[in-house]
Amino acid sequence: MAEFDVIVVGAGIQGAGVAQAAAAAGHRVLVLEQQHPAYGTSSRSSKLIHGGLRYLETGQFHLVRESLHERTLMLQNAPELVTLKPFYIPLYRQTRRQPWQIRTGLSLYAMLGGFQKGCSFSSLSRSKWSQLDGLNTQDLHDVFRYYDAQTDDALLTQAVLRSAIQLGATVAMPARLEHANLHSTGVEVTYIQNGSSRTAHGRVLINATGPWVNHTLQCVAPTQPLPSIDLVQGTHLILPGEITHGIYYVESPRDGRAIFVMPWQGQTMIGTTETRYCGNPDDTRPLNTEINYLLQTLKHYFPAYEKYTLNDITRSFSGLRVLPAGSEHAFRRPRETLFAVDQEHSPRLLSIFGGKLTGWRATAEKVMQRIDPSLPTRRAVADTRHLRLWPE
Ligand SMILES: Cc1cc2nc3c(=O)[nH]c(=O)nc-3n(C[C@H](O)[C@H](O)[C@H](O)COP(=O)(O)OP(=O)(O)OC[C@H]3O[C@@H](n4cnc5c(N)ncnc54)[C@H](O)[C@@H]3O)c2cc1C
Repeated sequence: MAEFDVIVVGAGIQGAGVAQAAAAAGHRVLVLEQQHPAYGTSSRSSKLIHGGLRYLETGQFHLVRESLHERTLMLQNAPELVTLKPFYIPLYRQTRRQPWQIRTGLSLYAMLGGFQKGCSFSSLSRSKWSQLDGLNTQDLHDVFRYYDAQTDDALLTQAVLRSAIQLGATVAMPARLEHANLHSTGVEVTYIQNGSSRTAHGRVLINATGPWVNHTLQCVAPTQPLPSIDLVQGTHLILPGEITHGIYYVESPRDGRAIFVMPWQGQTMIGTTETRYCGNPDDTRPLNTEINYLLQTLKHYFPAYEKYTLNDITRSFSGLRVLPAGSEHAFRRPRETLFAVDQEHSPRLLSIFGGKLTGWRATAEKVMQRIDPSLPTRRAVADTRHLRLWPE
C-alpha cells in the first residue's frame, strides 16, 4: 500500500494550500480530488483577494489583519495572478453608512494593513465622478476610493496545486474518497480512480472538501461527530462589459446588503447573494430570485444596464459558503477558518470549515502546526511565504 505522511482530500484552494505547505515542510503528500482543481467554491467566489472591509463592522480585526498580510504576500509572489484594483464606495442620501463611518473604517483598514502599498484611500472630487463607468449620480454626495486585489480564483488554485506538485506532492485526479479508517498509527483511505478501488496509508488525513466537509466526515470510521454548519449560497452574474474603471462596493437598494460590481475578463460581474442551501453541494444553481435581485441592483447603480434583460446575462454561477450554524444573518457569522480534529493531541484527521480564498496560505500554516505532533520529523525544503506562484 502506498505510504504518505499527509493525505489531503479536496483540491480547492484550501486543499491545494495544505498540500503545498506539507510538501514544503518535506512531507510525502497525496491529494485526492473527485473532479478537477477548483471544481467547488474555489472557482465560484467573488475573486477578491482582500482584507474584507466589511468584517470591521463585526469586529473581526484579526481576520482583516491576517488577510491584508496575505494580500501583500500574494501581490509579491503571484503578480500575474493577483493585482491591485481601485475600489469605489459611492454614498447616497439613502445609504445606510455615513461618510465618517467609511472614513473611520478605511483608516482602520489602512492601519491593519500596516500602511503598506495599496492601503491609501481618498474621497473623490465631484469633477471625477463622470469617469466612474456611468455610475448613477442622483442623490450621490461622496465617493471613496481605496485599493484591494482581484484574482482568477480557479487559476490561483491551480497555481498553488502546481507549486505543491513541484515540491513533490502526488495528485490523484479524478479520484473520489470513499472510506477512511482511523487506527493507532494513522489512517487508511480507500478511493476510486478510473473505476478501480485503491488504498493508501497516511499519518494524517486532511478533509479539505469545502461544502462537502460533512459528507466526507461521514465516510470516516470510527464515526465522527458532525459539526453544525449551514451552507449559504452566493450567486454571481456576468453581463456584457460596461464597467472597466474599477470595482464598485454598493448597497443593495432592496435590503442594504453589500454587493460588488466589477470588471471581469472584459465583461461585468456582479455578486453576491446569501441564500441558505440544504441540497447536495453538486447541485447548487443560481435561483431566479437571486438573478433578479442582482440585476435590479446593477440597473439601480448603472443606468446603462436599464435596457438589459435576463437574456443578456452571459453566465451565472453560484458557490457555497460553509458557516457555523446559527439563526443570525449570514453576514454576522464569523468568517474565520475553523478546524475539527478527531483527537486534540496528535490528530489523525483534521477537517477545515469555512474561511476565505485570501487566507489559504495562513490557514495551511495553521493546519501544519496542528498536525505537527502526528508527523515524522522531516527537513523543510521551502518556505511558503516566499514561493513564487505562476500562471500556467
Ligand atoms: C459566493 C462566494 C464568494 C466568495 N468570495 C470570496 C472572495 O472574493 N474572496 C475570498 O477571499 N473568499 C471568498 N469566498 C470564500 C472562498 O471562496 C472559499 O472559502 C474557498 O473557495 C473554499 O475553498 P475550499 O478549498 O475549502 O472548498 P472548495 O473549493 O469547494 O473545494 C473542495 C474540493 O473538495 C472536492 N471533494 C469533495 N468531496 C470529495 C471526495 N469525496 N473526494 C475527493 N474530492 C472531493 C471537491 O471536488 C472540491 O474541489 C467566497 C465564497 C463564496 C461562496
